[in-house]
Amino acid sequence: MLPFQRSILANCRRTPSLWTHSSTHTPCTSSPSPNLIRQYSSSTKGHPAYDSRQQAIRRTNRIMVGAAAAVGFGTYYLQSSQQQGNLINPFSFLFGSSNLTNDRWTKLQLTKITPVSDSTSIFEFRLNKPMTIPICSAVYVKDDEIQAMRAYTPVHYSLRDQPVLQLLVKRYSEGQVSRFMHSARVGQQIEMRGPVMIWPASRPELEAYDEIGMIAGGTGITAVLPVIHSVLTNGAKKTKLSLLFAAQTPEELYFKDELDQLAGSHSDQFKVTYTIDRLPDLSKTPAPAPSQAASSRKQQAVAKEVQPWKGHVGYVNQAMLEGMLPAAAKTNDTKSIILVCGPESMVKHVAGGRGVTGQDPVRGVLGAMGYKKEQVFRFPN
Ligand SMILES: Cc1cc2nc3c(=O)[nH]c(=O)nc-3n(C[C@H](O)[C@H](O)[C@H](O)COP(=O)(O)OP(=O)(O)OC[C@H]3O[C@@H](n4cnc5c(N)ncnc54)[C@H](O)[C@@H]3O)c2cc1C
Repeated sequence: MLPFQRSILANCRRTPSLWTHSSTHTPCTSSPSPNLIRQYSSSTKGHPAYDSRQQAIRRTNRIMVGAAAAVGFGTYYLQSSQQQGNLINPFSFLFGSSNLTNDRWTKLQLTKITPVSDSTSIFEFRLNKPMTIPICSAVYVKDDEIQAMRAYTPVHYSLRDQPVLQLLVKRYSEGQVSRFMHSARVGQQIEMRGPVMIWPASRPELEAYDEIGMIAGGTGITAVLPVIHSVLTNGAKKTKLSLLFAAQTPEELYFKDELDQLAGSHSDQFKVTYTIDRLPDLSKTPAPAPSQAASSRKQQAVAKEVQPWKGHVGYVNQAMLEGMLPAAAKTNDTKSIILVCGPESMVKHVAGGRGVTGQDPVRGVLGAMGYKKEQVFRFPN
């Protein structure tokens, strides 16, 4: 108890009953003014003014008790759920997530974490209302403790009518922000700002191309996935799409099922091929019993790897790209583009470094094939 509270209580104790005012008692320092007491004393029990005031007091008391109980329960729920690591803030509808803007940092509530490989998960955040995330844009995530921020490309294209934001984030063992994200728990508020455009790719801009070739590495798939969705849902123009998706292991070919399904349902328009750095060493991986196969994500991944690998093996090379991509640059060709997105080392190998301009002359595999700077866009990743 604070000193001022102790002195008020001591004074009140000296005053047997505040509300049965008697001129003989020393007035409590926290008591109402004598005028108020006089007004109160003039109302007697049974008097209509007295009764309605009593009812008002009782109503106020009930509201206050109810509010205190709600806050108490909410705090208890918040604490116990946080300990269990499965919390959705019950008061988020009052103070919680708002919509993203690039003007300031906004706290968004993490509502779901879906692991998609050993090192990568999809993190889902609640928005106030659905918002249009431009194709090929990124949002910045901040680790407030160390004041570091990194860009991530939202992947919720197919959920654009729902108030959610999804980020696919790979954890790097020494990575600052990716480790922060992977240590976050459901219910936590995480600061973000954006979206910011990385490549202008509204529908009319995509329509300008007859052909779009894409080379994605690992989480770089997030940049090209919205392009694929946008082009394939455009009834007006049948732009041709081709994608070579490179990853270290089959498990890291994120959204592969979705990509295969899109290629199947739009076989005249969209072709997808895959390459992995190396085949998994199946001799070290015990095949799961059929009954157990669906029991965990890891087992499902292993079950997939057991099937014969039908894609390429090794780093992206000319043989994988020939016949798949739009033809190498002809003079003033603006009808086709090649998008490259992935880890810096992979982008360098495929198209040369982005350099200080962000789009330095094309080198690497694409340079050797004759592609020019105007026909290739390298995403930062
Ligand atoms: C526009 C844009 C969009 C992006 N979208 C995504 C996305 O959707 N999903 C996603 O997971 N990442 C994405 N990234 C990468 C992301 O911004 C971070 O760079 C990544 O999460 C690593 O940050 P970190 O703080 O954990 O690592 P840092 O502390 O920056 O680096 C730690 C270590 O990890 C290594 N490292 C960092 N990034 C990579 C990488 N990409 N490949 C290999 N090694 C790396 C560094 O060399 C270093 O040794 C995007 C980047 C950009 C610029």
